[in-house]
Amino acid sequence: MNAILVAAGIACALTTALSVLLLVAERVLVNYGQCRIDVNEGEKTVEVKGGGTLLGSLKSNGVYLASACGGRGTCAYCKCQIHDGGGPVGPTEQPLLTQDEINRNVRISCQVKVRADMKIHVPEDLLAVKQYAARTERIRDLTHDIKELRFALTEPGTIKFKAGRYVQLEAPAYGDNPEPVQRAYSISSVPSETDHVELIVRLVPGGICTTYVFEHLKEGDDVTFTGPFGEFEINESDKPMVWIAGGSGMAPFWSMVRHLKEVGNSRPVKYFFGAVQRRDLFFLEELRALAKELDWFEYYPALSAAAEEDNWDGDVGLITEVVDTYVEQGTDAEGYLCGSPGMCDAACKVLHAKGITTDRIFFDKFA
Ligand SMILES: Cc1cc2nc3c(=O)[nH]c(=O)nc-3n(C[C@H](O)[C@H](O)[C@H](O)COP(=O)(O)OP(=O)(O)OC[C@H]3O[C@@H](n4cnc5c(N)ncnc54)[C@H](O)[C@@H]3O)c2cc1C
Repeated sequence: MNAILVAAGIACALTTALSVLLLVAERVLVNYGQCRIDVNEGEKTVEVKGGGTLLGSLKSNGVYLASACGGRGTCAYCKCQIHDGGGPVGPTEQPLLTQDEINRNVRISCQVKVRADMKIHVPEDLLAVKQYAARTERIRDLTHDIKELRFALTEPGTIKFKAGRYVQLEAPAYGDNPEPVQRAYSISSVPSETDHVELIVRLVPGGICTTYVFEHLKEGDDVTFTGPFGEFEINESDKPMVWIAGGSGMAPFWSMVRHLKEVGNSRPVKYFFGAVQRRDLFFLEELRALAKELDWFEYYPALSAAAEEDNWDGDVGLITEVVDTYVEQGTDAEGYLCGSPGMCDAACKVLHAKGITTDRIFFDKFA
């Protein structure tokens, strides 16, 4: 038994030593020289020093792919197609790709090293993504664990985006957090206000970026973010809409409702917002006022566990139960969902039961 354990230990140590040796050899000995990355059939071409990751090499040349995990190969946001020069799909990419994606040359760009000239394809929208420098103009509490951040853009001074898009805010190294991290936050301001960006951030206990926002970020501080990213947006159609959100999932809808008002919308919208207690609700008066003013907009805030002192006379129960009450069976509406993955999945189920098919449901899961 002991001999088997010793043999296994030696094999393990040898494999580790070999891997370290290979990594060091690659760093020290291998020189891939300059490599050329052709993006979207010549729309952009970048020259990079070989050896870095595709994600990092693109970023340092102004092509920003989304990444929520900071290049650790877990979020799979930085997918792109590599038609030439990508080499075989690596073992760290396999679990993040479907067979169909592999067949279409989709790769996880943070896990691919640039070792040769490449031909890649990224979604057209991403070529418009920029890195922004901004000044923190205002930080205000919306609830006990949600803050609204207002940034004045400094360089570039304006941003163009559709309501529903998100940016990746950078939290710099601080405390025990040795390196900057980027996290996704939906833009809550309206697209017409091109020189500012507002975000709604909910504190995640122990979370790197939200702890930075709640404990370190101050009015007047400079920040950087990249964007706009994402596909969540109001679909071009004349169907009624059912919006469902909880917590900071409010962000894109706060942008959307005011955008729709500005552009003279007439599509009916039922907006369901779930909270636990009265202290978790925000923009309540503003949204009720919009519901009074706009004949196409209905607002249904609901509390799942109202406290006695809340004196709440609105809807109660899980937001899915409230949706079930007010959305008619067989509706031809489209569903728009934003919030935690659990809430989005539960909301999808209730919409399916109402007859809203998957192709008419759109969401951003705040995973
Ligand atoms: C498209 C999109 C849009 C989004 N929009 C918004 C928005 O508008 N508003 C909003 O508030 N959020 C939004 N999010 C979520 C946001 O991006 C972050 O995931 C969230 O704010 C948490 O980030 P964090 O850095 O504070 O937490 P992280 O550091 O990423 O931590 C997340 C969790 O992991 C735990 N954890 C962290 N490190 C460790 C460790 N070493 N070991 C064990 N556990 C650990 C933390 O305790 C925490 O529970 C969005 C997400 C997506 C994908």
